[in-house]
Amino acid sequence: MEINYKRWIAGIRNEIQEISIPQLMDVSTTRPVIIDVREPEEFAQGAIPDAQLIPRGQLEGAIGEHVADSETPIVLYCAVGERSALAAQSLSRLGYQNVGSLAEGFEGWKRAGRPWVLPAVLPADQRARYSRHLLLPQVGEEGQRRLTTSKVLVIGAGGLGSPSALYLAAAGVGTLGIVDSDVVDVTNLQRQILHNTDRLGRRKVDSARQTLNALNPLVEVVAIPERLTADNALDLLDGYDVVVDGADNFPTRYLLNDVSLHVRIPVVHGSVFRFEGQASVFAPYAGPCYRCLFPEPPPPELAPSCSEAGVLGVVPGIIGSIQAAETIKLLLGIGDPLIGKLLTYDALDQEFRTLKLRRDLDCPACADEAHPPRIVEYDDLCRPAGSVVRT
Ligand SMILES: [Zn+2]
Repeated sequence: MEINYKRWIAGIRNEIQEISIPQLMDVSTTRPVIIDVREPEEFAQGAIPDAQLIPRGQLEGAIGEHVADSETPIVLYCAVGERSALAAQSLSRLGYQNVGSLAEGFEGWKRAGRPWVLPAVLPADQRARYSRHLLLPQVGEEGQRRLTTSKVLVIGAGGLGSPSALYLAAAGVGTLGIVDSDVVDVTNLQRQILHNTDRLGRRKVDSARQTLNALNPLVEVVAIPERLTADNALDLLDGYDVVVDGADNFPTRYLLNDVSLHVRIPVVHGSVFRFEGQASVFAPYAGPCYRCLFPEPPPPELAPSCSEAGVLGVVPGIIGSIQAAETIKLLLGIGDPLIGKLLTYDALDQEFRTLKLRRDLDCPACADEAHPPRIVEYDDLCRPAGSVVRT
């Protein structure tokens, strides 16, 4: 049998609905979803404004995520209208009822003097690494690029900081600051999965950087071998988009809360105790703060720090992973973050609950937006200790 591509493609172009450039530009009709079915390298060199890239090879599998309604008008285009004709035939068979192929293709579009854009696209190595993100329309190329330019500060390279930082690094967050003044101890290894037996006695921030960069060398890990104090907190938070609270003690949490209200950076909170954990997002002045939730710390005998209380090692793994998910949602502006909500988890009952939190109108920290709290060091009872460092 004779193989004749030209005749075959001409037959398909006859069968499908071909759209001309003036038809595509017709403002009296519903504006269609425009999909570029070329390869990413072609797309990167120029595309029709607002077009979404779904390469031909991924189209049938991915289209449902982009266009849920089979009656939505879709116009596909490629370079010269051949690949898009095949794609249009395929989407019609899939059940889409209003699919067109731009007859002139992108080459014709440019020849006609129509405006086009140079889309910012990820380099090929990043496209491969983050391909499962790129398939999600809520992340996609644009979201992934946003992640790669985001900066997240993780307080504590311990039980909560470990899974948070690992998933944030894997997700491609551009800069991860890690604040921790401790060294790796053998008792940490039951839950602090950034570290390992070979690193006993080494600084946790160095161990964290080594692990995170082995996972993803594209992430800049800023190792900060310090404790968060009233002296350094404002400077440490400066320039970050989100803070992950993986602290294991109340004084640090109260201090972090006060500082976040100054610099207006959201804090993704997590804490664990025995078989239980909880998570929330404290968005300054947009929802309750940590002190709205806990105006006063519990007495020390009821709230031993993590170093004194037992904890099932996997519990911080779960809560820290939730903190990573909330952080990514905040960075991308997607979904419904845990602002004004406290998620609680019980590993023994295997149960999650979500409690509503309200802003305390008399909160000593966040009630008055014009006067954020003074930055002071807290003692173990979370009373200001010593002199005021900064106001
Ligand atoms: Zn408050």
